[in-house]
Amino acid sequence: MFSKILIANRGEIALRVLRACKELGIPAVAVHSTADAEAMHVRLAEESVCIGPPAARESYLNIPQILAACEITGADAVHPGYGFLSENARFAEILAAHKITFIGPTAEHIRIMGDKIEAKRTAKRLGIPVVPGSEGITSDAHAQKAAGEIGFPVLVKAAAGGGGRGMKVAYTPEVLLEAIATARAEAKAAFGDDTVYLEKYLDKPRHIEIQVLGDGKGYAVHLGERDCSLQRRHQKVWEEAPSPAIDEKARKKIATTVAKAMGDLGYSGAGTIEFLYQDGEFYFIEMNTRLQVEHPVTEAITGVDLVKEQIRVAAGLGISFRQEDVKLKGHAIECRINAEDPRTFAPSPGRITYYHPPGGLGVRVDSGVYQGYKIPPYYDSLIGKLIIHAPTRQECLARLRRALDEFVVDGISSTVPLFRSLVDNVDIAHGDYDIHWLEKHLAGE
Ligand code: ADP
Repeated sequence: MFSKILIANRGEIALRVLRACKELGIPAVAVHSTADAEAMHVRLAEESVCIGPPAARESYLNIPQILAACEITGADAVHPGYGFLSENARFAEILAAHKITFIGPTAEHIRIMGDKIEAKRTAKRLGIPVVPGSEGITSDAHAQKAAGEIGFPVLVKAAAGGGGRGMKVAYTPEVLLEAIATARAEAKAAFGDDTVYLEKYLDKPRHIEIQVLGDGKGYAVHLGERDCSLQRRHQKVWEEAPSPAIDEKARKKIATTVAKAMGDLGYSGAGTIEFLYQDGEFYFIEMNTRLQVEHPVTEAITGVDLVKEQIRVAAGLGISFRQEDVKLKGHAIECRINAEDPRTFAPSPGRITYYHPPGGLGVRVDSGVYQGYKIPPYYDSLIGKLIIHAPTRQECLARLRRALDEFVVDGISSTVPLFRSLVDNVDIAHGDYDIHWLEKHLAGE
């Protein structure tokens, strides 16, 4: 096992990883920017190192500083959490060159899946169903021809995409070139890479993703699916497991296909294969080669600690269970609590003057905030996650409703009231929503 793990992240996920390290009896090191000196992950860690000023590129994305923190503290492994350096193949390689283990997949697998064109090609080769579309676009004439073959509307997507950026829908051939130009410009600005490709635009899909764990030696298990169809600007807001939209047969078919594919790839650690699901068909869109924000809903229904499994696999100890041991139990829902105005979604950093998280059976709150904590304005607005587990979906919604009623966050605005309104919505109660539902609902349609 590792002698010390450095957690190269902040906020709730740094705390989540720290908790796993503590339970495994592995000393952990927190790193932080000057803006995060008072953060909970720093307070609770045995050791912490300041790695730079507030701007992420000078601290949480600063590879030399993180490396130096490993050297100073004697950490022999790094858990990257999600975001920041978690899908940076170069970082994984640099750590390896310094004999430090990256708790995640190989640099090669990160690289393949980080390029969406390459990822789709690989998925197809492994027998995973993909969204019909083009590979890279070589010329305007090529784009028009490819779009014609796919059929309008088409979606222009950035190969390096993430966080829903660099995506544009073209409904007719007349607007295709303009959509490509806009997507390219957005992708160039966000990722420094303007490669785009075309995909069939699905008009009413659900977002359903499969959680996998690979041992890196040819064996992978799946932990069922998560339904993340409630989105705003292509960003997940509410996630649940199992999906209210698929049955046992559909689940088994897609999840088994994916687990076999990841075994064949030799994938190591935790990963998520994301699909759009429409009219009974699954279409691969991308793979995330890291732990996801919404991993707790899977933990709730399987009883598996995903972070501990990631650490075990990275240490060469393999996965602690087999596929046949996995039993899905009950229903789980996660709400992402953001420091944002619940109507305008404008960020709301500042001091939390009063804080009372809910508790009780089946209620989990993953959050790094506390009463008196000042939310810095430099990072994303996620301040916590409320995860509810209950025997049935209906009981889960009832438990979520009462947990939201208990939740008090004063001094800043939070999205708690948004969830309080969603939990009573009839479409939500019926599980009847696609990826466009939330935005239409928010627009009052
Ligand atoms: P990112 O990496 O930027 O998050 P994804 O490929 O994961 O991009 O897509 C994010 C979201 O965008 C999906 O969950 C879905 O809401 C929407 N989306 C992506 N591809 C399509 C498509 N072909 N048709 C319709 N919506 C799509």
